[in-house]
Amino acid sequence: MSAAWTISSVREAIAAKKTSAREIATEHYKRIAARNPEINAFLTLCEKRAYAQADRVDAMAAAGKPLPPLAGVPLAIKDTISTRGVRTTCSSKILDNYIPPYDATAVVRLEAAGAVILGKTNCDEFAMGSSTENSAYGPVKNPVAPDRVPGGSSGGSAAAVAADLAVAALGTDTGGSIRQPGALCGLPAMMGSYGRVSRYGLIAFASSLDRIGPLAHNVADVAKVLQIIAGRDPNDSTSTTAPVEDYAAGLAKPVKGMKIGIPKEYFGAGMDAGVREKVEAGIALLRKLGCELMDIHLPHTDYAIATYYIIATAEASSNLARYDGVRFGPRVEGDSLIATYRKTRGAGFGAEVKRRIVLGTYVLSAGYYDAYYLKGQKVRALIAQDFGEAFQKVDVIVTPTSPVPAFKLGERVNDPLQMYLADIYTVTGSLAGLPGISVPCGRIGGKLPVGLQVFGPAFGEARVLQLAHAFEQAGGASL
Ligand code: GLN
Repeated sequence: MSAAWTISSVREAIAAKKTSAREIATEHYKRIAARNPEINAFLTLCEKRAYAQADRVDAMAAAGKPLPPLAGVPLAIKDTISTRGVRTTCSSKILDNYIPPYDATAVVRLEAAGAVILGKTNCDEFAMGSSTENSAYGPVKNPVAPDRVPGGSSGGSAAAVAADLAVAALGTDTGGSIRQPGALCGLPAMMGSYGRVSRYGLIAFASSLDRIGPLAHNVADVAKVLQIIAGRDPNDSTSTTAPVEDYAAGLAKPVKGMKIGIPKEYFGAGMDAGVREKVEAGIALLRKLGCELMDIHLPHTDYAIATYYIIATAEASSNLARYDGVRFGPRVEGDSLIATYRKTRGAGFGAEVKRRIVLGTYVLSAGYYDAYYLKGQKVRALIAQDFGEAFQKVDVIVTPTSPVPAFKLGERVNDPLQMYLADIYTVTGSLAGLPGISVPCGRIGGKLPVGLQVFGPAFGEARVLQLAHAFEQAGGASL
C-alpha cells in the first residue's frame, strides 16, 4: 500500500506541481474501484463534481495563485449530509431516490476551501446504530479486519479513510457515531461542541444531539477540517457565534501540567480486558508527558444510556414523521391516505428505525411523557452538571471510547441492548453538548484498534485537539 496522503502532503504536492488534483482524485477513484466492492464504504460516487472541482484547483495552481487550505484534498461525506444533485439516502430505502436541492453548509465550506468530494458513504439507516449493519445497502467491512464491523453509524466514512479511499471524511455523531467508528478503525475522529458546526443540511435524527465532524489519518488533519466547517451559520440558529480558535496553531503547545480527570465510572464491568490494558497504557503515557492525572466522579453516568435512548428516540419519532411517501422516497399506494402512509413507512424503514420510532412515540405519549421524556430531560441536565463540576477541577477528561474493539459482523445484530451498550462511554458527552475526540491508543494483539476519548468543556475544542495531538505524537497509536 502506498503511504497515505495527508492534507498538507496533497496541498504541497499540487503547489509544487509534482502532481495535480485531478491525478490525486483519479488515484483515489482507482482505489475505490478496487476495494469498495469488498468493504462497501461508498454508496454513491460523484466523479463529475469531483473532477470539476479538481480542475478548478489545478487551474489555481497553474496560475500560481495561493491554494486554499484543503486544495485538492479528496473527501468522503456521510450519506446523512445533503449534497446538491448527488443522491443522499441516509442508507434508507425511504430516501432511495432522494436528490437534495441544496448542499449542507459543511459541504459548501469544504468545497470553498478547495476540497474534492469523491462521494457519499454508507452508514446505519438514519445514523441509528453502532456497526453500520443497519444500512439498507448492506454492511460495511472494517478494513483492518474484514470479518469485523467498522463501528457505526459513520462506518463507511471511517472505513473509507482507513482503507485510504479518501484522505478525510465527514461523519455525524448523535451518541458516538463519529468517535466509535474512528476508534474501531484506528483513526482520530472528532465531534465539536454542540453548535460548533452548522447542522444545516444534516438530515435530522435527534436534533438536540446531532453534530457533523471529521475523521482523518492524524489529529492535525482532523483540526484542519474542523477549522473549515466550524463557525456561525445563519441557516442554523443553534450554531454558535463563539469565535473559532486557530486549532492548528494550538496543536504543538506543551501539555505538561495539563490537568486530566479520569472518571472511575468509565472503568467498570463490561469493558474488554484488551481495551482496559491499552487505555491504561495510554493514561500512563499521558503521565509521562507531564500531565497531572486526577480521579474524578461523574455520578450520573449509569443513567446515560437510558437517558440517551429516551431523548434520541423521542426526537427521532418526531423528525422521521416527515417521511410519508408524499414528498420523499418511493411511495407504496394504499386505498386511503393513511393506508398509503402506513404502507410507505412499513416498506421504507428498516427494523431498527421502526423500533426507535415506536419507542420515541411511546415516551412522548400522554401519560408517559412525564415519566420518561421529561424525566430524561432532567437527568440530561444532571449529566451536564456532573461535567460542569468536573471541569472546575480539570482541563480535560480522558476515558475509553468504546468498551470493546471491533466485533464480528453479525455478532450483535439480534441483540439491540448489546448494540446500545457500545455507546456507553460516548453518549454522556453527547447529552452534555461537549466536544470529544477519539484518538488511536494501540491495537489489541497488534491488530484491533483501541480509541482513547478526550472530552473538553464546551467550546474547548482547541484543548481537546492539543492533548490528542500530543498523545499521537508520543506514539499513542502504537502502544
Ligand atoms: N449508536 C448510537 C445510536 O444508535 C449513536 C448513533 C449516532 O451517534 N448517530 O443511536
